[in-house]
Amino acid sequence: MTHDVLNQPPPLENYNLFDSDRALAEGLRREGAAWAEERARAFGAIVGGEPLRWGFNANENPPELRTHDRFGHRIDEVEFHPTYHQLLGLGVRHGLHSLPWREPEPGAHVARAVLFFLLAQAEAGVGCPLSMTYSGVPALRVQPEIAREWEPRLTSFDYDPALRPAEQKSGAMCGMGMTEKQGGSDVRANTTRAVALGAGGPGAEYALTGHKWFCSAPMSDAFLVLAQAPRGLSCFFVPRFRPDGSRNVFRIQRLKDKLGNRSNASSEIEFDGTWSRLVGEEGRGVPTIIEMVNHTRLDCVIGAAAGMRAAVAQALHHTAHRAAFGRTLIDQPLMQNVLADLAIESEAATVSMLRLARAFDEGGRDAEQRAFARLATAVLKYWVCKRNPMLAAEALECLGGNGYVEESVLPRLFRESPLNGVWEGSGNVICLDVLRAMGRSPEAVELFFAEVESASDERLSRAVEAVRAELGNFEHIEMRARRVVERMAVCLQASLLLRHGAADVADLYCATRLAGDHGRAFGTLPPSAGLARIVARARPS
Ligand SMILES: Cc1cc2nc3c(=O)[nH]c(=O)nc-3n(C[C@H](O)[C@H](O)[C@H](O)COP(=O)(O)OP(=O)(O)OC[C@H]3O[C@@H](n4cnc5c(N)ncnc54)[C@H](O)[C@@H]3O)c2cc1C
Repeated sequence: MTHDVLNQPPPLENYNLFDSDRALAEGLRREGAAWAEERARAFGAIVGGEPLRWGFNANENPPELRTHDRFGHRIDEVEFHPTYHQLLGLGVRHGLHSLPWREPEPGAHVARAVLFFLLAQAEAGVGCPLSMTYSGVPALRVQPEIAREWEPRLTSFDYDPALRPAEQKSGAMCGMGMTEKQGGSDVRANTTRAVALGAGGPGAEYALTGHKWFCSAPMSDAFLVLAQAPRGLSCFFVPRFRPDGSRNVFRIQRLKDKLGNRSNASSEIEFDGTWSRLVGEEGRGVPTIIEMVNHTRLDCVIGAAAGMRAAVAQALHHTAHRAAFGRTLIDQPLMQNVLADLAIESEAATVSMLRLARAFDEGGRDAEQRAFARLATAVLKYWVCKRNPMLAAEALECLGGNGYVEESVLPRLFRESPLNGVWEGSGNVICLDVLRAMGRSPEAVELFFAEVESASDERLSRAVEAVRAELGNFEHIEMRARRVVERMAVCLQASLLLRHGAADVADLYCATRLAGDHGRAFGTLPPSAGLARIVARARPS
């Protein structure tokens, strides 16, 4: 033996991800899902076990495209590593793709957000199909006869990975196809054509011809797709099998070689006379699919918050078990500053996503909550996703060289971290969407600030005054959109933390993010006895 292995932390495994996250558990109760606490606890224990290992396996063995079977028939299937199916099956069996539609209790969106947040920490790649299936249901309800047929399958807790005609499966998953080569943000540029196979109209059959440049989870059973019909851009329901049980034309050209999210497949698709049904009116494609997009944007916030929590948990765990210069890292004043700063940002993201999920719960019966959700989703989607990569990079550095090595999981969290910012509206597009939402619905702006101003703090009042002044001036407003949206998000997070967060977390968030007593990197908090308490609160145990 050449040496003893010393001063290396034990792996962070076999722990309960729910119980070890105080901000999460407090938020679940506060935001109306106390009834789901035992369910979340049990799920937190499951995810903290074997699924952590599955996450590694699923990434080390990425999906492979099978265009043809051995006899030369086109099949367009994707083969995944068994651990990917285990992770996705775990999510489906716990209702992460459908809980609020299957069990529409008050607080169901919050309960689902918590479960989604937990699983995403084991592996984010299954979040995409779970999210699209969850989000597809409200858009599908625009066409009740299709919803009647498909909703029971899309909300089933049975997971069956085989691609088969719908009537042979109890469960089903849904994807979306909007982005084309010539434009993703500007879907008006879509060139895929839709031709009615009969008289046309809502629910009628159409043939699609064209392509999609990004189509994630192509193994799904059905998709909502945008295409140009005679009366304009329209939303179509495209199942993988036609009603007679034959394969629909859904040519997977290739899989994307992505930066991260590697366990999940994203593909390029071609349609050639592909059988579909119109959802909603011709020409109303964007308002129809927006029902789906609003929910996937909520999941971008949840997913980014989960990525942050996973990274912070690793950083806290590592530094608690590693010493340098004669002292445990977590107790070194400068490391404590970095860790506390990361923990504050992570808690801000967690309280935000839970408050937002509650607005989805209440939005079903309360127009004001619906208006608040519309604006707050875009504001938080921009900011929480924007913070994720910076936080992931800094958390990685807390592990030193170990953090740069795949086995530590930090490289995977880092690679995943920009995704939610790009998908479902990249940063600029989201900020412009915030401006549009405010222009269309001035009452949403007042509801947003009423929520923000329900906390009382001098620093918050000054920040709100400043952002309101920015909003009152329309000169160069598009050029200032990021400034405005960032400030709105920070005000909302400060208000939520003041009302619901730990006192130290709220105070330092306001001192740094609102009052500017902060540098440009994490770890620049003003010295305070609160830092040790923040670190202790966030530490996974
Ligand atoms: C991993 C992954 C999975 C995906 N899965 C799917 C999927 O399943 N289905 C699907 O339909 N799409 C999917 N997408 C595509 C994604 O939604 C688009 O990439 C995204 O909407 C941006 O569109 P784009 O790539 O065409 O970029 P562009 O629209 O060309 O935008 C490029 C940049 O310009 C900015 N920009 C655009 N307009 C303006 C403006 N007016 N002012 C200032 N800046 C502007 C954008 O913010 C962006 O930063 C996926 C993407 C990724 C990375």
